[in-house]
Amino acid sequence: MPPAAWAGPRPSQEGGSIQSSVLHTQAPPGDDSVPGEENIPIEEAPAAEEPAEPVEEEPYVRVIDPAAPMVALTFDDGPGKRTGELLDALEEHRAHATFFEVGRNVAQYPQPLVRMDELGCEIASHSNAHRDLSKMKKRTMLAELDAADQAFISAIGRAPTLVRPPYGAVNSTVKYASGRTMVTWTVDTEDWRSQDAQTVVDYVQSLPNLDGEIILMHSTYKSTAQAVAVLVPWLQEQGYQLVTVTELLAYYYGELPQPDHFYGYTYFANHGRTDAPIELPSMYLPEEEPEAPPATPPRSTRKKRGES
Ligand SMILES: [Zn+2]
Repeated sequence: MPPAAWAGPRPSQEGGSIQSSVLHTQAPPGDDSVPGEENIPIEEAPAAEEPAEPVEEEPYVRVIDPAAPMVALTFDDGPGKRTGELLDALEEHRAHATFFEVGRNVAQYPQPLVRMDELGCEIASHSNAHRDLSKMKKRTMLAELDAADQAFISAIGRAPTLVRPPYGAVNSTVKYASGRTMVTWTVDTEDWRSQDAQTVVDYVQSLPNLDGEIILMHSTYKSTAQAVAVLVPWLQEQGYQLVTVTELLAYYYGELPQPDHFYGYTYFANHGRTDAPIELPSMYLPEEEPEAPPATPPRSTRKKRGES
């Protein structure tokens, strides 16, 4: 058997036609071989012509221009059936978004969170059971938020910084005494109401200026996934950088999320672009698959982004 790091040709390489099908797919861990007859004995590979070490891909470094327009897409209520489609659209366009996920859904479907992490999306909490936090006693609210955190820790090894209260329902305890950073939104697409992709697209495209805005959508509707596939490239064509909520707070508003802070309509209505953007650590993201497979395709080395 070859050493695990050997980067020789894979029997399945047949030219460019598989490109689109592998674009969003990781190789199955630990197994290059195709079952069946086509396995070429690895020993035949001439050492002189093949790189002994795997080729190090240049990691893709994500850069945010604090002076350029930016907008934060946010998706609530996942992970769910449409999460993969949303991530496909984001990955295809190297765009980033924030997912406010429900803890009990995370416990059931932890896998999409790993991909969100790899793509540089922000993972945030939307409580554990999607109940109205403003109607709870403080102790119950904290237990609800802690339960959600445990689900995230099980899935990705850490608890999120940001929480979006279900229904946007807050009182002063939720806003200022949860030990978390509470964030709502500034643009409500009401995608749940129309459940129509064109309605969502038309609404977002009708807004005169989206710079600094946080757009609310949901992970649960096919119509939303269809709308996002249109809106992501459209927003980029308009010159917007698609950033996460924490990136928007840092680069546009000049703030880092603090515990017991609430960022809602009032905050965003009273703040504009900062003169003192906070630069977050650069994120190193997985490189895209090459346009055409080279003669000796390097194994895709998916790097975890740096901590931020
Ligand atoms: Zn919700």
